[in-house]
Amino acid sequence: MTPRDTQKERLRELPSVDQLAISVARAELKARREELLAGATDDVDLVHRARERLRPRLRRVLNATGVVVHTNLGRAPLAVEARAAVAKAAEGYCNLEFTLADGRRGSRSDHVDGVLCELTGAEAGLAVNNCAAAVLLATAALAGGHETVVARGQLIEIGGGFRIPEILAQAGTHLIEVGTTNRTRLADYAAALGPDIGAILRAHPSNFRTVGFVEDVDIEALCSLGVPVIDDLGSGVLRDDWDLLAQEPSVRRSVRAGAALVAFSGDKLLGGPQAGVLVGTRAAVHACRVHPLARAVRIDKLSLAALEATLALYRDPAAARRALPVLAMLDADPAVLERRARELADATGGRVVGAVARVGGGALPLLELSGPAVALDPGVAGADALAAALRLGEPALIGRVHEGQVLLDPRTLTDGEAQCAAQVVRAARA
Ligand SMILES: *Cc1c(COP(=O)(O)O)cnc(C)c1O
Repeated sequence: MTPRDTQKERLRELPSVDQLAISVARAELKARREELLAGATDDVDLVHRARERLRPRLRRVLNATGVVVHTNLGRAPLAVEARAAVAKAAEGYCNLEFTLADGRRGSRSDHVDGVLCELTGAEAGLAVNNCAAAVLLATAALAGGHETVVARGQLIEIGGGFRIPEILAQAGTHLIEVGTTNRTRLADYAAALGPDIGAILRAHPSNFRTVGFVEDVDIEALCSLGVPVIDDLGSGVLRDDWDLLAQEPSVRRSVRAGAALVAFSGDKLLGGPQAGVLVGTRAAVHACRVHPLARAVRIDKLSLAALEATLALYRDPAAARRALPVLAMLDADPAVLERRARELADATGGRVVGAVARVGGGALPLLELSGPAVALDPGVAGADALAAALRLGEPALIGRVHEGQVLLDPRTLTDGEAQCAAQVVRAARA
């Protein structure tokens, strides 16, 4: 087929005016009728609402907040390689649970098991839907029906309702708290280990720090107690030879220490898709694989494709730092940020000021990434009104309001996105 034929074909596939209009009008009128019956007295523009209904709800946005792993904005943008893998997996069929060598049924976890072992030194690995699911599955599989010991300082809330005590209850394990909020010692753990112990859980206090009179037990000592240790690292880092991320716990270290299971996120500092990764001993990973919850928290083929491609990049750490957007943004060349900020300021009539970017996603909460940002003149309407107008731009531009100014941080924009951001600013002003 020629491109012209394809175009004709696509034109023929468009729904008729009647079809489109009737379906949107029905939905809109039904919603309005319900509002009126519920007592609404406001005036609404139903045509505008119908137009909005036809736009995708999940939209591309320009992240100019300087928060690199922004959970509300979808966390990690994917590397080119991961995007290509997703497109390929989405386009046709794939050997998701099929062994090409013998034509038998295969396991979806086989696709990343090998590379996870290679990168972390673990005996086995498994990918699930997200790290919250990984922790739920790990505790259910190793300690369901038994006891789990957790330090009081680690009974944390990650956000989005993920609280360790509640997750343990859902996993069907009985929580035994040890130590105090600020200090827990090895002897506290040892004293709590009874005949019904299932596991010790260590949870990384990702998004806060306790300072001062504090003491906790390192992973090597915990593993020396002879009880299966589940180590929830949250973000975690795969490479422990990188200064910038040295404050985050390393996956390799926990594996080396002998943790039964180490859990970490696919879309925090790893820089991949939403996923949860479990690595550890063969027996512990097997227990997770065969647990009934495994099916409920399994990873889908698109995320799996992106995760495999992301992990493959880590085989060459220098290449990973360039190719993975999250790592590249954290490690951005100051000269590039300076130039991008200047161009954005010139194109928007803003000023280049000093600002602080953040990692986000509950990782490295104290790390400040200093760099330039563009402060926009808020005009008479003020900064909040300008920020709101930018959010309604096409595409939406999300900045940060700081001391009465809207700041645009070039760290979380590409060069192309920065040009696009300038157009959004000009359109919002016009
Ligand atoms: C972020 C985090 C989780 C949850 O990870 P998701 O991938 O967002 O589900 C679990 N535990 C810790 C310690 C975390 O920081």
